[in-house]
Amino acid sequence: MSATSRAKTVVFWDFDGTIAERPGHWSSCMLDVLEPLWNDNDLTIDTFEPYLRTGFPWQDTTLDRTHLTDADAWWRALGTVLRSAYLSAGVPESVVDLAVAGVRVRFSDASTWRVIPGATDALAALQREGVTQAVLSNHVPELPAIVDALGLAGYFDTVFTSATIGFEKPHPGIFAHALDAFGHPDDVWLIGDNPVADIEGATAAGIRAVLVEGSYLVNGGVSHAEAVRIIRAGALAA
Ligand SMILES: [Mg+2]
Repeated sequence: MSATSRAKTVVFWDFDGTIAERPGHWSSCMLDVLEPLWNDNDLTIDTFEPYLRTGFPWQDTTLDRTHLTDADAWWRALGTVLRSAYLSAGVPESVVDLAVAGVRVRFSDASTWRVIPGATDALAALQREGVTQAVLSNHVPELPAIVDALGLAGYFDTVFTSATIGFEKPHPGIFAHALDAFGHPDDVWLIGDNPVADIEGATAAGIRAVLVEGSYLVNGGVSHAEAVRIIRAGALAA
């Protein structure tokens, strides 16, 4: 395959659990934010879990949220979920609004995220081949800044986050948005750790999908290095 045709290969990457992870996720973030505001508490990250099972955008991916693509509007909507969870866990009214505001800052703080071993090598390998790469994630509006602060922005042509698109994977709307942005390339892939959001969603959109081993759950996926080999072989055969 010539360099020119290889340049037409586009690889979309899931972010959370595929490129980076945030240990403890939303529950630990909510607890961390609370400490300085209400330190005389005996809450644990497990306290919040029962109250975080609904209300997040990625927990109902059938909805059109294109009216919430403004970052402040997106966080206002999620803020009602976080506020309710805090209050249900016994957090006093006097601190709950400060805590909710703190979650936005804390969850978007790149120092609370860590890059998954193998991801950077895979990104670099595909970049060396001339592959165009983009993040395509169900995530917060601040994802582009998180990617930048983790030192990963140079690998990506674009960082797409569901929050500013208005659809969550596996909704066809988010894949259509990404494919439109790249002019519907012939050779297009997605690497992700979620069998439904990533693999089923991408496949339904005509994107070849590779399941990689997740950092949160055992999912039967391949290593990041193997994902590169699969794409390299598939792209060469195309
Ligand atoms: Mg993921």
